[in-house]
Amino acid sequence: MHYSQSSIDRADHLRKDATALQQLRVADSTRLIPVYEGKSLTTTGDAPPKALMLDATLPSTHPEVFLGTDNQRAYFAVDVSTLDETARTELISCACDIDGNKQSGAFNDLRNIGPLLPDDDGSLLAYARGLVYWNQHTRYCVRCGELLSSTNGGHVRHCSGCDYIAFPRTDPAVIMLVTYQEAGADDLCLLGRSPAWPEGVFSTLAGFVEPGESLEMAVRREVLEEASVHTTNVRYVASQPWPFPRSIMLGFEAQATTTRIQCDPTELADAQWFTRDQLRSFGNWGDEDKGYKLPRTDSIARHLIDRWIGTA
Ligand SMILES: [Zn+2]
Repeated sequence: MHYSQSSIDRADHLRKDATALQQLRVADSTRLIPVYEGKSLTTTGDAPPKALMLDATLPSTHPEVFLGTDNQRAYFAVDVSTLDETARTELISCACDIDGNKQSGAFNDLRNIGPLLPDDDGSLLAYARGLVYWNQHTRYCVRCGELLSSTNGGHVRHCSGCDYIAFPRTDPAVIMLVTYQEAGADDLCLLGRSPAWPEGVFSTLAGFVEPGESLEMAVRREVLEEASVHTTNVRYVASQPWPFPRSIMLGFEAQATTTRIQCDPTELADAQWFTRDQLRSFGNWGDEDKGYKLPRTDSIARHLIDRWIGTA
């Protein structure tokens, strides 16, 4: 699954060891993953994009997060969002690949460039983006309003006023492929489209899990709320981190017990039942031409759909 293929050891035991982290931070082999206003540094040019990094010579003047280690080096994310254009250009001129070779690059939104990246690179950039986002947006204590400070290598934020401790949050969202089977007829799959999506794109339904709700309950509630379809036999398939900005997508299949669709217009512009043959004729997210399209290739929605198409 895209964004979940990182080979990095998160090395939790090092997070509380400030001395060890400081030594790693300045080591020649260390690589820094810069994040600028949520954007990630990637190569430019005709070749498929790759993640770009900085070496350890960048001064520690920006908020940093220890990401972990692999067999060769340590990785830190660096939030460079306060850089002006001149400083940013200079920083980009120092960009290198994982082996330290200089490369030309630019800051790009992972939401756009993610599907084109190698899995390992996409996973590393998603991890860095998620933690930088959380640190940026967890500035004040929810209990007493004091400024929080970063500890444990950027994985904990602490309030010196009331001792409150904040941990990185991930919002669980269920995403489900709903199918309908009737003897003697082609199997059907329910897909919908959000009013905000590019023309023609249809995808699986999805929604956030609410307090006091099991994942299976969330699946059934969301499908009923959005499309007025009743479901049963909810089965877990797979999950995917989705740092846009801080979700984890929990993928399910469910069987419909009713087929009449009535869309909630605030959630769905349209929803329809499709056969496997119909889905095989769909184009892809990003295609220029008109017509039906499947969701982006880096999404668990696409994984669920491709999986279903492949089963017959
Ligand atoms: Zn506090």
